[in-house]
Amino acid sequence: MALSRKVQQVQPSATLAMSSKTKEMIAKGIDVINLSIGEPDFTTPKAIGDAAIAAINSGKASFYTPAGGLPELKTAIRARIKAEDGVDYRQNQVIVTDGAKFALFLIFQVILNPGDNVLLPEPFWVSYSEQVRLAGGQPLAIKASGKDHKVTVADLEQMRTPQTQAMVINSPQNPSGLLYTAEELRELGNWAVAHDILIVADDIYSNLVYNGNQFTSLVSLGEAIKKQTLLVTGVSKTYAMTGWRIGYVLGDPQIIKAMNTVASHATGNPAAVSQYAALAGLNGDQKDAEKMRLAFEKRLNLLYPKIQSLPGFEIETKPQGAFYIFPKVKQAVAQCGYSTTEEFVEALLEEAHVAVVSGRSFGQPDYIRISYATDQASLDEAYKRTKDFLETKS
Ligand code: PLP
Repeated sequence: MALSRKVQQVQPSATLAMSSKTKEMIAKGIDVINLSIGEPDFTTPKAIGDAAIAAINSGKASFYTPAGGLPELKTAIRARIKAEDGVDYRQNQVIVTDGAKFALFLIFQVILNPGDNVLLPEPFWVSYSEQVRLAGGQPLAIKASGKDHKVTVADLEQMRTPQTQAMVINSPQNPSGLLYTAEELRELGNWAVAHDILIVADDIYSNLVYNGNQFTSLVSLGEAIKKQTLLVTGVSKTYAMTGWRIGYVLGDPQIIKAMNTVASHATGNPAAVSQYAALAGLNGDQKDAEKMRLAFEKRLNLLYPKIQSLPGFEIETKPQGAFYIFPKVKQAVAQCGYSTTEEFVEALLEEAHVAVVSGRSFGQPDYIRISYATDQASLDEAYKRTKDFLETKS
């Protein structure tokens, strides 16, 4: 049986593939340190788990919910966005989805026609391009000429076509951890408004910002940019809830309604128990979220100078958010005698038992992504192993 042409164009997620390979090695008893992961190593705060258990025990979690989410959860999402970004949304401008990943999937399903394209500044998260393809659109990778992997209006303008329907801005960014300033976002936003290009603002890491840096959401930059933007975020990273699968989108009511229609046929609704858990997270006092943020900040501050000091590793600017460091390793790869970053990453895993991800799947093959969403002792050991590996090879 032949597979559809659509699905044949799509690559499996490289980050998940690396994670699975690492987990297989760990299951075989090999002591691998996994720095390829894209999720907090913390477990979900107890108050959130307790709320889920209460929802099960009371019977509330037994039933279907509205396709686009529980009304009380939408209200809590609006209140949190108001508190964090200072903007108001109406109830019909919110949809709850099975994770931010499915939110993005639904967006591309409802906005793209065959031949439409979406601008994706490099480096970009692996799923955007594949989701655009699955929706029949064309992903256009944009070389970012600004400092710190940031895209400029000139970069976007060079690639814009009459079929450009949307662009994705992810800040703090996976994989680089870099953050756009308000001024940079305003320029991008004004350009999108001028050309009627929808902005998909992936703010999933907005609460993981460190060392006094300030997060700005595109939606806070005035009514025109807000109207042009779909704000995508969720509870996965902020509350260590990746397994619960709750994300959400705020924006144009017509687009939200269309997403609701597709979701109603695709998944029915996000799991009720997860929605009650997310509700507790959003309405809670945010202390646990802050504790986790501080822990990530401490790890970044300890790990960054070490990564910087590794021979053949280069990083221009210290990451400001998310939980990744994205060094250029071109020199290290050459010094160790490898011809590609993938060979280097493979050898680091097989020989030093440290798992990282090649930057190729984010559109930047000379880089690797190192996740520091793991405990300090493992990070210290991973650094030591990597240093020894580099010294032995070069
Ligand atoms: N966007 C980015 C940039 C991510 O890194 C991730 C997760 O890795 C997501 C969206 C999706 O998050 P989730 O589906 O867990 O809500």
